[in-house]
Amino acid sequence: MSVRVRFAPSPTGFLHVGNARTAIVTWLFARQHGGHFLLRIDDTDTERSKLEYEMAIEDGLTWMGLHWDEKTNQKLRNDRYDVVIEKLKKDGRLYPCYETPEELNLKRKTQLSRGVPPIYDRSALKLTEEQKKKFEAEGRQPHWRFKLEMKPIEWNDLIRGPVSFKAEDLSDPVLIREDGRPLYHICSVIDDIDYDITHVVRGEDHVTNTAWHIQMFEAISGKVPTFAHLPLISDVEGGKLSKRLGALSVKAIKEEEKLEPMAIVSLMARLGTSDPIEPFSSLDPLVASFDFAKFSRGTPKFDPDEMIRLNAKILHDTPFSEVNIRLANMGMPDIDDSFWMAVRANLERLDDIRAWWHVVDGQVTNALTDPDFTAKAADLLPPAPWNEKTFDEWVGAVKSHTGRKGKELFMPIRQALTGMDHGPELPVLLPLLGPEKVRQRLLKAA
Ligand code: GLU
Repeated sequence: MSVRVRFAPSPTGFLHVGNARTAIVTWLFARQHGGHFLLRIDDTDTERSKLEYEMAIEDGLTWMGLHWDEKTNQKLRNDRYDVVIEKLKKDGRLYPCYETPEELNLKRKTQLSRGVPPIYDRSALKLTEEQKKKFEAEGRQPHWRFKLEMKPIEWNDLIRGPVSFKAEDLSDPVLIREDGRPLYHICSVIDDIDYDITHVVRGEDHVTNTAWHIQMFEAISGKVPTFAHLPLISDVEGGKLSKRLGALSVKAIKEEEKLEPMAIVSLMARLGTSDPIEPFSSLDPLVASFDFAKFSRGTPKFDPDEMIRLNAKILHDTPFSEVNIRLANMGMPDIDDSFWMAVRANLERLDDIRAWWHVVDGQVTNALTDPDFTAKAADLLPPAPWNEKTFDEWVGAVKSHTGRKGKELFMPIRQALTGMDHGPELPVLLPLLGPEKVRQRLLKAA
């Protein structure tokens, strides 16, 4: 049996780190099995779904290297949903209900106050044809519920192990709204059947939905896929991912945080698994090491700083050939291999290279705060060629000739060379600047 999976985001917001994790895990599993990865846009909610979000989702997936084999939109499949819905109505698995939201709320409150679990009491099943006609004459439109069969619902979850529900503990789910529009549950199950999905991978917030879905799969096709429910991610303190962190969208990670795609992928592929979290520069080793059995049931903590540390490590190993075009596009076409190799170990984000580039290639504005001292330092410059040891050699000489040390020694030099109080490491910077620029900046304010 070949593996067929889907990633099914709702385009009602940007792809956030939690969704991104589901996408990454699903994709790795598919690729490991030479399977098929479907991107399914769950856009049945036409008011909240936006093309802008759909495009951002596609852009985010592409940026992370998660290419899909096929794409579908739920909003294009209404005719197909109608056919299945008619059949379920005929089979008596969908039944019309006329309660208003207020009436349902009252029922729930009464049940709760009596210490009874708030499960729908199925009173709509007892309505006579006459009563239904009366409701409709009053202008009430029915919503439709799926009639669960009263039997145990069990599955072997790839992450949670054996899971079981009693249908008696569940309400019959509403599948069709008063306005006739089908809801997520029915659309999702029909799609999973039509696209031959073999494994449904999603967050554990869907566990109860899965109990419902299994009976729907049985009623529609008689075939049930395998499920894997990922524990939801928490923040560093173990709390629910806050709005602020949840707002950490893939788009923001790319455009505002300016991180490398493999930083989020490296973290999310391994978070909550028994494998170590390490920086990876390609998806291949992650595909090779992927295994649902390595996922723990505990809630993994998402630490944005960990993603930034991974980002730095990834950059420190990146060859020039992988960044040269990006650097040119960022407006720094003259950065070459030796410049890159000299500074990359100092970068946390690729964008940090701007400071280095500016200092080396740009015109720095420096005020010579201590001209006699920097002139003396210029006299002591060692002869070329320079390397990363030159700085220590030189500063050692300046120190013994002037008797200065610490900040008094370094700060005037830094200010003269860079025009800044802090910034690029001077030992790396010195050979990049070269003797001519260094001498010039030590002697003259620009
Ligand atoms: N659109 C649903 C969500 O984003 C899909 C859940 C599923 O994978 O079935 O939660």
